Amino acid sequence: MTGHNIRYGNKIIPFELIRSGRKTMETRVKPDGSVEVRAPEDLAIDRIIEIVSKRGRWIIKKRLHFQQYPKEDLKKRYVGGETHRYLGRQYRLKVIPSDNYQVKMKGGYIEIHTPDDSPEIVEVLLYNWYRDHAEVKFDQILDDAMTVVRKHGIKRPEMKIRRMKRMWGSCIHDKNRIHLNLELIRVPPHCIEYVIYHELVHLKVPNHQKKYYRLLNRIFPDWSERKKRLEKFQIS
Ligand SMILES: [Zn+2]
Repeated sequence: MTGHNIRYGNKIIPFELIRSGRKTMETRVKPDGSVEVRAPEDLAIDRIIEIVSKRGRWIIKKRLHFQQYPKEDLKKRYVGGETHRYLGRQYRLKVIPSDNYQVKMKGGYIEIHTPDDSPEIVEVLLYNWYRDHAEVKFDQILDDAMTVVRKHGIKRPEMKIRRMKRMWGSCIHDKNRIHLNLELIRVPPHCIEYVIYHELVHLKVPNHQKKYYRLLNRIFPDWSERKKRLEKFQIS
């Protein structure tokens, strides 16, 4: 990891550079405002600085967001009273001592019934519950999306759900498979739809070149508003 800077207007923005075997560059703003850039081993530093500089406006915006909504970005502790999202809505966690393990939604609460209220157990129970709902919900959205994309020659992919640290979704073109981040169950359905359509279009056009956006615009014209909305949520 090495430290570098970019200049944006009258601001100097430092970033940490991490080189890896990846093919593309990724810029991340962390909740504390620091910037992390991942780049391929052989990409020249001048080029990296040029690319990061172009993202200056986005970095500033992202930092501002973290300043405005610090609460949501605090690391979750999985204790009673804490706020957790489901399909974009906020619910409070209620941890209830019980002989059995059970999770249910009641009013504005997600109730965790458990003999063991340690945060590790509460997290596992909550995420098992998230997963059960994600499997049904994401499948439904995929079904609906297929009725739209099938006529563009896109076949129903295999869908895998897992917790990912950095991406909301990804796809393996050759295997006709999409991966969705389990964390998506926390965001509003219209943002989940955006991610699913984004990946579906990749099954036809793997990269982000003009042809990709031409097809996405045709199939899913309001994608950029949904994308903006999704960017307000952090992958926790
Ligand atoms: Zn993409």
